[in-house]
Amino acid sequence: MNHPLSNSQRRDAEALLHPYANAVALRANGVQMIERGEGIRVYDETGKSYIEGLSGLWCAGLGFHNAELVETAREQMAKLPYYHLFTGKSHETAVELAEKIKELAPGRIARVFYQSSGSEANETQIKMAWYYNNALGRREKKKIISRVKAYHGTTIVSASLTGLPYNHLDFDLPVERIRHTSTPHFWKGAEPGETEAEFTARIVRDFEEMILAEGPDTVAAFIAEPIMGAGGVIVPPEGYFSAMAEVARKYDILMISDEVICGFGRTGQWFGAQTLGYDATSYSMAKQLTGSYLPLSAVGINEDMAEVIEKHTGEIGTFGHGYTYGGHPVGCAVGIKTLEIYHRIDAPGRVRALAPRFAAHLDRLAGHPLVGEARHTGLVGALELAPGKSPKGFATPGKLGPRLAQELLERGVIVRPIVDSIAFCPPMVITEEEIDELFAPVEAALDATE
Ligand code: PLP
Repeated sequence: MNHPLSNSQRRDAEALLHPYANAVALRANGVQMIERGEGIRVYDETGKSYIEGLSGLWCAGLGFHNAELVETAREQMAKLPYYHLFTGKSHETAVELAEKIKELAPGRIARVFYQSSGSEANETQIKMAWYYNNALGRREKKKIISRVKAYHGTTIVSASLTGLPYNHLDFDLPVERIRHTSTPHFWKGAEPGETEAEFTARIVRDFEEMILAEGPDTVAAFIAEPIMGAGGVIVPPEGYFSAMAEVARKYDILMISDEVICGFGRTGQWFGAQTLGYDATSYSMAKQLTGSYLPLSAVGINEDMAEVIEKHTGEIGTFGHGYTYGGHPVGCAVGIKTLEIYHRIDAPGRVRALAPRFAAHLDRLAGHPLVGEARHTGLVGALELAPGKSPKGFATPGKLGPRLAQELLERGVIVRPIVDSIAFCPPMVITEEEIDELFAPVEAALDATE
């Protein structure tokens, strides 16, 4: 590229340090300024339109201009723009949204705790797991097992749970007491000749061996995304989660389902755990909870955890954890309206109905010489590029994925490169025709990618 920067690009470079960016490259090439949104599309400052093939950051499930959400936020802003839930205060929108989450979530959720982001939700999860075990007098039972390639956020503990090298590099992470077990990616991880069932059994064995090596009395929780998102949209093999959950149960280990991407219909059920066939002790929710019109996250815990934690607050005097913006009334009002819309459009049913069209495009593109594997569930999927279609990948990984994403950008589609995969996670309000439009330029973009 290296064209002269526009005025707004120059101002951006002078004003912002960007997340997940190479600041030197950004300064040379300039950022893309997005100005407005409509339906599944966003428009840049030159007026060019793009299909948002990743719903922003896997989050804008209702697209980019929902008038009902705008009006709901305005009304709540006018009525009670801010209040908190600390030390005996509450407000109606926080209660109503929690009731609705309890109705929807699997695993008999008993209590809901609010934060603003997915990272904070997972931070809360780990603090709750530690608090819970301390309440039970199990002061050694504190290690958390996550997975290589997991993504759970970027605060200190959630970044430690994340199993991606660049989230740790030069941040002095991960912190102590966090372990990472194997990634359930059959195509990439299978030994020669290994069947999917044998692979799954081996990955589950790795988990159990890690617990035994650490000592079951030192392991508090296992945390997992139903489908790994930022690690490359990795859909685990059949039977993986039920076997992992059984191991967790055997050693009295809490099971945390990170539903930050998969929650609220994305996989064709309300929660990813339902699609993948397991029950967790607690669930992290964010992103689609408000369609991402406002930042809000929630942690739902089961009855046992709720009972132990609440009793302990009586014993030691408080649950010393919380966020100024946790349960923000405007976020909660928008969350209530978002869930109402999901019910009205039957978001999970809609995703199930659209999934075959979405899958057919990805599966067809898997035939392209540059594509090694297509992965998908519901309305989330990825194409992984691989020379000679070999799971061993590239000698210098991470070059072609971004190039393909750039080719698609020039053709009016925004997707997310993840090393040499590109991820698709369009708004759930997309239509069949729009799915065709989303995928229309992919083959030509693949041909142009070298
Ligand atoms: N958990 C998962 C599964 C995510 O995908 C993300 C963000 O992409 C997070 C947690 C972190 O959420 P946030 O960026 O809101 O902190």
